[in-house]
Amino acid sequence: MSHLPIYLDYAAATPIDEAVLELMLKILRQDGLFGNPSAKDHIYGWQAAEVVEEAREKIAKVVGCSPLALTYTSGASESNNLAILGLARSKNIINSNKRHIISSQIEHKSVLSALEYLQEQGFKVTLLKPTSQGEITAQMVAEAIDDQTFLVSICHANSVVGTVNDIFAIADVCRANDVYFHTDCAQSAGWFDLNLDKSNISLASLTPEKIYGPKGVGALYIKKELNLALTPLIFGGGQERNLRGGTVATHQVAAMGEAFYQMEQKASADKERLYNYRKQIIQALSELDFVKINGKQDSCLPTIVSVSFKDIDPLMLLPSLHELALSTGSACSSSNLQPSYVLKAIGLSDKEARASIRISIGRFTTQEQITKAIEHIKSTVIKLHQACDMWQVKE
Ligand SMILES: *Cc1c(COP(=O)(O)O)cnc(C)c1O
Repeated sequence: MSHLPIYLDYAAATPIDEAVLELMLKILRQDGLFGNPSAKDHIYGWQAAEVVEEAREKIAKVVGCSPLALTYTSGASESNNLAILGLARSKNIINSNKRHIISSQIEHKSVLSALEYLQEQGFKVTLLKPTSQGEITAQMVAEAIDDQTFLVSICHANSVVGTVNDIFAIADVCRANDVYFHTDCAQSAGWFDLNLDKSNISLASLTPEKIYGPKGVGALYIKKELNLALTPLIFGGGQERNLRGGTVATHQVAAMGEAFYQMEQKASADKERLYNYRKQIIQALSELDFVKINGKQDSCLPTIVSVSFKDIDPLMLLPSLHELALSTGSACSSSNLQPSYVLKAIGLSDKEARASIRISIGRFTTQEQITKAIEHIKSTVIKLHQACDMWQVKE
């Protein structure tokens, strides 16, 4: 067997949970539940529909909402698009003449690109600048709201630096101002209690792909009492209460349900272990005087550590860390030479942003891997730092 690098990129994708895989396989097999869940005329359809609804109930239970508040999508990107474009194009908003949306500079590209498109269509978009720890506060949102604002979209947890925002406080500010609040929970769902129905959150994007479920499936939470008639992105045959056309992928949504259910069983033990690994990494690297840890340490994901190095050659960094599979910023912006827009927005220089790594860990990370990774990173960056000193390429 070839020697694979240690996997430290859980924030980009996770391996699948065995129970999730078993369920998917069972459904996909010929004697399984392959029927079209919308087929109303026979038992194959009814059984598939039952699986689809059971999964919706499982997810709903974990995120604290009515199952009917969840619409299946192809992932968090689609959920983000459906929330933002679906609301902006709804009759409600078109008739209201409100045209202002507030978001932040460090949202996922699926949010930022959708907002860019709306800006071209004549909407006004304000992108809040985060604190140097990557946080967006309720106060920042309150100050940016004007009488044209109809939507605020701020993620729960940032996928590059791991900072967790107080979305409940932000949601309260939005409600008090009669503004809808959307939050991208792709990195946080399953790890933190969301209690969506009890909160003032209007819309929330969910996916199982970062919590040991498959890629290519997700859901959008739409608070029922708001009676939001979002305009679909995909028109079709009435599936998902006319909100999302296309045959619901039974094996995918069942897997999502099981991934959320498994998180409910395993998250609290995993969390304790991962926060401990995180602490070990931060303590070990903080001993070096050219290291900076990014993000808000007293409010962060258990899964992400973002580290920047001063005075080392960014081009040498990842190639030298060849024993580890990790990323510089996030999968969506790792053309490697481009510094991460998130790290730049929290105040890092181009050079610092490029000389950064995101270590992201998860359920299958072991103490042995963490010990090895720390040693490898430390010895590598010390060498790179000395080389930089030698050639005097300091800023
Ligand atoms: C991974 C991720 C997404 C994209 O999710 P897909 O299911 O791949 O579309 C969106 N937002 C955040 C914060 C993410 O981490």
